[in-house]
Amino acid sequence: MTVPLLELRDVAKHFAGVKALDGVSLSIGAGEIHCLAGENGSGKSTLIKVISGINAVDRGAILIDGADVGAMTPRQAIALGVQVIYQDFSLFGNLTVAENLSIGAELRNRRRIVNWRRMREHAEAAVQRLGVHLDLDATVDSLPVSGRQLVAIARALMADPRLLIMDEPTTALTGREVATLFGVVRDIQARGIAILFVSHKMREMLDISERLSVMRSGRVVANGPIADFDEVAITRAMTGTDIAEE
Ligand code: ADP
Ligand code: MG
Repeated sequence: MTVPLLELRDVAKHFAGVKALDGVSLSIGAGEIHCLAGENGSGKSTLIKVISGINAVDRGAILIDGADVGAMTPRQAIALGVQVIYQDFSLFGNLTVAENLSIGAELRNRRRIVNWRRMREHAEAAVQRLGVHLDLDATVDSLPVSGRQLVAIARALMADPRLLIMDEPTTALTGREVATLFGVVRDIQARGIAILFVSHKMREMLDISERLSVMRSGRVVANGPIADFDEVAITRAMTGTDIAEE
């Protein structure tokens, strides 16, 4: 059996009495598009924060390539290849696309001299690899949501991730923009990068993902290849109506 890229074993996390994660076990294979579904409050964002080292776990283990990473800081998570695209994109709105793409690379640069020309070349290469059009000199605030999202994706890819996590990436997109995003996501996968795609939209999950995990009340209540699911099965898992009806 191949060792998964990421594995969570019996992970628990509570906030002041709320069990945000209540014994979560989950595996993501290298280069896999894995969808994480669940209603509001089911624990999806907390799971992302645990994987990215923002929230420490109360119990359980996080393994990367089969090795327990222990208490992981955000810096360690990045070094291990985890990148997150949050719903707000965390960009500098009054700076240009090129500047936003340069900042991360420059922060990792240990030398004191800023090489603007090289930074610009790296930014250009990052956008070109995405295969989309983005004006490097446009201010981020002047771009539509879909454009800002592409900047966030390009920036994340510049860190050479092995796992790219996207939290509800289609919320503010039109149908055409979702199609563009899915093309980009498949290209990223073709580079061998795994994607954890957090969503609560049925059709999108069924369209983009290879495996699906469904969360409810801090637990993973269903997990398997996407072919095992349809809209009814996902809804039942998300809402727990199978239990309520019986
Ligand atoms: P989702 O992303 O699926 O909507 P969350 O992970 O954000 O769910 O939240 C799971 C549960 O944990 C919710 O009940 C939420 O209110 C609670 N929670 C999340 N973060 C915090 C926090 N920082 N402090 C207190 N409660 C929190
Ligand atoms: Mg959330």
